[in-house]
Amino acid sequence: MVSEDAGRAGERICRGCGERLRPDARPRAEFCSSASRARQWRAERRLRRLEQSMEFLDLVTAFHSFVAAAGRIVPTLRHHTFSDDERTIVHENVARCRATLDWVEMAVDTGKVDMDDELARLLKDE
Ligand SMILES: [Zn+2]
Repeated sequence: MVSEDAGRAGERICRGCGERLRPDARPRAEFCSSASRARQWRAERRLRRLEQSMEFLDLVTAFHSFVAAAGRIVPTLRHHTFSDDERTIVHENVARCRATLDWVEMAVDTGKVDMDDELARLLKDE
């Protein structure tokens, strides 16, 4: 004869799925092992999404900072006479920024975030 399970002494129920916990479950266990794994996986996924959204925000902030700084600085250069060296430095930096922007676009569009050697060399040349 099947006894009334719910009435069994010391029986514990998984808060996730409502199944009985195994008798050898830890004394403080509230979830069965599959519910625990699912909860762990969801917690990790939440963390990954949070990290990704923070990294995305960092990227957008970096663009914003650069554009804001250029917008502030360039108009102050109206009467500045650039030497050849200064022009060379500006052109090198613009090339570096362009290459970086291409890389960001490619990374976002393709998911390939690795730098190729040429870009790595360009960005390293200070
Ligand atoms: Zn369960």
